Formats: sequence, C-alpha cells, structure tokens
Amino acid sequence: MERFKMMTPLVEMDGDEMTRILWKMIKDELIFPFVDLKTECYDLSLVHRNETGDQVTIDAANAIRRYGVGVKCATITPNAQRMEEYNLSQMWKSPNGTIRSILDGTVFRTPILVEGVHPAVRSWEKPITIARHAYGDVYKDTELRITEPGKAELLFTGASGTAIRRTVYDFECPGVLQGLYNKDSSIRSFAHSCFRYALSTGQDLWFSTKDTISKQYDHTFKDIFAEIYESDYRTDFEAKGLTYFYTLIDDAVARVMRSKGGFIWALKNYDGDVMSDMVSSAFGSLAMMTSVLVSPEGNYEYEAAHGTVQRHYYRHLKGEQTSTNPMATIFAWSGALKKRGELDNLPALVSFGHKMEQASLQTIKDGIMTKDLVTMYEGGPATAVNTQEFLSAVRQRLDKLVF
Ligand code: NAP
Ligand code: MG
Repeated sequence: MERFKMMTPLVEMDGDEMTRILWKMIKDELIFPFVDLKTECYDLSLVHRNETGDQVTIDAANAIRRYGVGVKCATITPNAQRMEEYNLSQMWKSPNGTIRSILDGTVFRTPILVEGVHPAVRSWEKPITIARHAYGDVYKDTELRITEPGKAELLFTGASGTAIRRTVYDFECPGVLQGLYNKDSSIRSFAHSCFRYALSTGQDLWFSTKDTISKQYDHTFKDIFAEIYESDYRTDFEAKGLTYFYTLIDDAVARVMRSKGGFIWALKNYDGDVMSDMVSSAFGSLAMMTSVLVSPEGNYEYEAAHGTVQRHYYRHLKGEQTSTNPMATIFAWSGALKKRGELDNLPALVSFGHKMEQASLQTIKDGIMTKDLVTMYEGGPATAVNTQEFLSAVRQRLDKLVF
C-alpha cells in the first residue's frame, strides 16, 4: 500500500523522559508504516532548550503560527532539582506557558472514554471538555498581608489623568488583601477560541461565572461572550443546531452533574483549574486526558495532558519494561493528523487519524491495557501489558482497519 500523503508539515515538538520514549515508539509503530510523514521538528527536550537559551521553544511556537498545526510531547518544567540534574544555565520557563503566550490560546481538555472504564458520575456518557481561560485573575494577582488597622483602597489612575478611588475595607484588625485584573483583549480571544472550537467539534458551549456577585469583573466576561456570540457566531451555531448558553457557575456545576456530557464548558482561569482536575479524575485517569491549545487566529497545538512520567523513566533507564499508558499521546498525534487533513483537504489522512483512535480503543475493549487502567476496568477480564506490547496490539488492529 502507498502511505497516506501529507501536504503541509506538522510542527513536531519532541520532549523529555518517558514521554520522549513513547513518542518514538508511537511514530515507529503507528505512524511511519502508514503515513508519508511531513514534519518540521523542534527538539524541546530540556537539554536542547538549555543549549539554545530556550530559543527553540519560541521558534516552535512561531512555526505553529506559520503552519497552523503542531503536536507536542510532554516536557520538563525545570525546578531547583532539575537545575542540578541537567546542569542548567537558567531555570527555563514552562514551554507550555511560553507557547501559550505566543499563540494567545485557550486550552481544551477532553477525556478519552473507553467501554469498560466507567466515569464516577453515573449519568456521564460522553466526554466533557473543559475550556480554561489561561490568562490573569488570581494567577497574576497582587496580594498583601495586612498586619495593623488601616484603610485599603482601590486606586486607578487613568492615562488621561482621571483617578478612580474606592474603599475596599477599613481594617480594624489584621487580614488579607488581593488585587486582580484581566483584559478585554484576552477575554475576547478566549471567547473566540471557545466558539470556534465548539463549531469545529460540533458541540454545545456552556459558559459560567459568578456575575450576580461580581457585577463588573465577571459580568464583563459574560457581556463579552454574549456580544461576540451575537455578532460572529449565532448564525453558524443555529445552522449546525448547536447551543450557546450562559449560566451561573453554581447552577452549571449542578447541571454538569446531572448531564450526559458531550459539551464544552468554558471557565475562568481559577474555575477551570479546579474543575478540570475534578472532571478528569471523575472520568478515570490523567493518562487518558487529551489537551489542545486553540488560538484565536485558528492555530492548533495537540498534546497529552499528563507530564513526562518521570518515575517510569527512571525505571526504564534501569532497563525495566514499563507499562506507561500511551493513549493520550496517540490521541495528540491522531488529533493533529486529522486537523492537518481537514485543513489541507486530505480526507484519507483524516480517516487514518480516526482509525488510529479506533484501533487504540478497540485494544482496550479487547481487554488489553496498561497497568494504570486495569484496576479501573469493569468490562471483563483484563490483561496488563507493557507499553511495547500495548502498541503492538494497537498496530495489529490498525493494520486490519487500514489494509
Ligand atoms: P506526570 O508526568 O503526569 O506523572 C504523574 C504520575 O501520574 C506518574 O508518576 C504516574 O503514576 C501517573 N501517570 C501520568 N501519566 C501516565 C501515563 N501516561 N501512564 C501511566 N501513568 C501515568 O506528572 P509529574 O510527575 O508531576 O511531572 C513529571 C514532569 O512532567 C515534571 O518535570 C513536570 O514539569 C512535567 N509536566 C509536563 C507537562 C507538559 O509538558 N504538558 C504537564 C505536567 C507536568 P505512577 O508513577 O504512580 O505510575
Ligand atoms: Mg491544577
């Protein structure tokens, strides 16, 4: 058989530790035999980021802006221990943070559902995708510990010279104080990314904040979403039979718990941080969570939501076989290939991406899975296999689907 052709290269970003090992195994077993792979490669391993003064991360992000679609392996975000381990010249920033700030994107996280692994919430039948605004609020706050009585004020000095002053609280005792901000431009990009992603995946969009209490801050989020929906997206949503709705966050939580799933839930930065961990653990496992960064310009970067699985890597270095779950990384590749196929009008490539996913899911359905899933599996007898054995089992099924 001739391998599936590509037109535009994918931006491929290699990474660190166990996921770097998975990366090569997945390409060798599930991609090279089937696809005439075209990629522009950026090695984001910590060693190479250090050698290039982190320029490689910036170059990779710019390449995604140029080509439109990237696929990224998990990478180490250095801390003090890593400084020593890798003899780093600097504590380089999180590559994901750098890429996100260049693409100005929103991160969408979706669990991979398999028959036999049941969500903790019984009514959930379809995945719930969390769209988290990844800018500002408490993550860029200014905080004070107040140690004596005194008056706390909010002061804004405009470029034109106007001053707005509000009393926050007249402290009669010690306490705490916090200043938060966000920008209309960032909220607007967040809204555009969410509406586009809902349209491109054919799912309803929910958005929730606490605007009844936060009458300026959260209300502005609500208003911007409403305005952009009306001006740019309502027609397309209605044409596709999709719904956008806004509701208070506490109401949204109650509805999510009674829902069947199958929608996108957009959340402010902190809410998204908290709710994505709740939703992912209720769906099963971090190793089964995919993640895609969507920029307002319409660029896509696919990755697994988990990290480099360090403990498994150290065992791998000792020569042990590990049972590391490659599902989320396989889905990062399939997602990127499908998107590339869609943008370049290559239906065969899109269909191959679907088959990669189908073959992986079928393997688990057949009772063959990595260790992390065995304890959760209720679909019948399950065999725990190592990573290579799992990928070989997927390969067998993929051969059948393709040939
Ligand atoms: P992690 O790599 O996600 O792993 C945490 C634990 O979760 C693992 O030790 C493992 O548990 C389990 N796990 C995660 N993925 C798995 C998989 N595919 N198969 C089987 N088990 C899996 O998080 P971490 O240990 O906190 O971080 C390690 C490194 O990853 C750090 O340097 C961090 O900076 C980086 N990181 C990168 C990204 C990214 O690039 N997107 C995201 C998060 C973290 P057991 O060991 O109990 O089996
Ligand atoms: Mg978190």
